[in-house]
Amino acid sequence: MILLSSIWKKSVLKRSNIGARDKIREFLEGKVGKIVTTEQIARIAKIRDFQRRIRELRNDEGMQILSRRDRPDLKPNEYLLVSLKREPRLALRIDKAQRTRIIERDGLICSMCGVTPSDPDPYHPGRKITLHIDHDDRRGPTIDENLRVFCRNCKEGRSNLVVPPAPNTLSVIRTIRRLPRSDQRLIFLELKKKFEPTT
Ligand SMILES: [Zn+2]
Repeated sequence: MILLSSIWKKSVLKRSNIGARDKIREFLEGKVGKIVTTEQIARIAKIRDFQRRIRELRNDEGMQILSRRDRPDLKPNEYLLVSLKREPRLALRIDKAQRTRIIERDGLICSMCGVTPSDPDPYHPGRKITLHIDHDDRRGPTIDENLRVFCRNCKEGRSNLVVPPAPNTLSVIRTIRRLPRSDQRLIFLELKKKFEPTT
């Protein structure tokens, strides 16, 4: 009985998630040119993760939804659909060869928090980390230089929250600090090569 009701709940949740994107789309299209608030959207969508739906509408459907990131005069809780015209982001798709190149370059490790696919997912108990390739600058081009490996949590959260470094990252930093100065310098020079390459 408990199992059944939890399955039922899950399927209802799933259905309302699919509907949320449609509801937000309809709401925004009805308010084109007018500023709407996250409170209004949350009320309409009836889900907490409505920001993800907004990203999907923007990235997958090309809706011209602006936020504070695009228009500094907007408040942090405001969105504005400027026009009903769709403008799909060009060359958003990352092809298989490019995906392989990025993973070969960066390794199977989240570039933000340092988790790997063998780590447990802190936000989804019982699941392992999943990694994705995504744009560094979300409005930038789909070129290798603008692509990085992100875990799902960082990918979803990086536009609105700061993810603390993973415990294993902190322990690596502690380990490095205990090393002799000469070894630390070696690591420093290695990292310098990566982050401040001399051209
Ligand atoms: Zn991460």
